[in-house]
Amino acid sequence: MHSFSYKNGSLHCEEVNLADIAAAVGTPVFVYSKKTILEDLEEFRRELAPLNAHIAYAVKACSNKAILHLMAQQGVGFDIVSGGELWRIINAGGDPSLCTYAGVGKTEAEIRYALQQGIYCFNCESENELRTIDRIAGELGCKAPVAVRVNPNVDAHTHKYITTGTNENKFGVDISRIESLYATIAAEMPNLCIKGLQMHIGSQLTEVKPFVMAIEKVAPIAAKFKELYGIEFWSIGGGIGIVYDGCLASGKPEWWAAHPEQITIRSYAQAIIPLLKPLGLRILVEPGRRLVGNACAMLTTCLYEKKGEAKTFKMIDAGMNDIIRPALYEGYHEIWPVTEHSGDEITADIVGPICESGDFQAQNRRIADVKPGEVLAELSAGAYGFSMASTYNSRPLAAEVLVDGTQWCVIRRRQTLEQMVEDELLPGEQA
Ligand SMILES: *Cc1c(COP(=O)(O)O)cnc(C)c1O
Repeated sequence: MHSFSYKNGSLHCEEVNLADIAAAVGTPVFVYSKKTILEDLEEFRRELAPLNAHIAYAVKACSNKAILHLMAQQGVGFDIVSGGELWRIINAGGDPSLCTYAGVGKTEAEIRYALQQGIYCFNCESENELRTIDRIAGELGCKAPVAVRVNPNVDAHTHKYITTGTNENKFGVDISRIESLYATIAAEMPNLCIKGLQMHIGSQLTEVKPFVMAIEKVAPIAAKFKELYGIEFWSIGGGIGIVYDGCLASGKPEWWAAHPEQITIRSYAQAIIPLLKPLGLRILVEPGRRLVGNACAMLTTCLYEKKGEAKTFKMIDAGMNDIIRPALYEGYHEIWPVTEHSGDEITADIVGPICESGDFQAQNRRIADVKPGEVLAELSAGAYGFSMASTYNSRPLAAEVLVDGTQWCVIRRRQTLEQMVEDELLPGEQA
């Protein structure tokens, strides 16, 4: 459930008219709903209550300081994938001891920083990496907490670029090799402390079954590692999908009643609890997309329209530099006019200003016949939206806004042109 709906003919986020935000801040702008984030967090906690479960929000989905601060205030932990993300957590008032650090390519400087900050655990992805952490921990005179990411070789039935849990992917250690790797750590890496086990099979999973299959496959190993090495946690990763196609309607309970197959926090929890509870381990869940994805709309203005031989195009002021998901992995976002239309639907491509044919937000989409000057809302823009933005085509980064009830505030100023080039130097200028 989310907090975007039409009220009196105008699209609102909670109690705020999105037209007001667009008028005050300009477009493109990402607008987040605090209520949606808090409610979803609460739902995770309520549904997972029978387990000794902890939420580790996957920071890469959306890493704005105000969003991280909000999460930190709620006492959630964080799943990070770089030293930069750890720095952001600390900067936003988060607790490093609640951070798990994932990723296949941690640098020595990042490992040192994470050890000095006292993170909860490194989730490692290769023997090479484990040996590097062991050496650095030895140099620093400390013991590094580690888990290894096991790759259960389960197909998550999601887009191939966001599937991570098959043995074709770069992630994790094959399930057939994980037991011997743990034995090697115990025997040969004295500066590591084996603290847990991790897995993450992919992103935007819309069904529960692949999660169940992966957990069933790995649970015996988790139980064995608890006995052999006294591991305290098993992180089962994130990947819980959201509704993209049907997003606006999914703000109402009726939609959910008509779509019983769509994964929910409840159906996810109810399927996994019986498999995990008997293990007696602390369970970590790492949702990213599910906590922020539907909690945001990106506002953009229609600039022009053009009818060609084959297609009608609506040009907007947001490009693939603002939201790359459609170009990168065929991501789908609903697009609605902020001022409600009725009965004037056409089929059009919604395209950005970037000089790339891949720069579209929607193709062959049934959409209201919006006119130049009208503001549109691109829904489900909270996850892997702003966090993947760039300044490609020398377009400054968009602004971000947080809505709370009837109030709203800017949580990221729109980047200025000066800021966009401030780190560039002519040869000879002082670096
Ligand atoms: C990206 C990632 C997540 C979050 O995935 P979502 O699909 O956003 O829930 C969780 N864990 C790891 C290790 C990740 O890389």
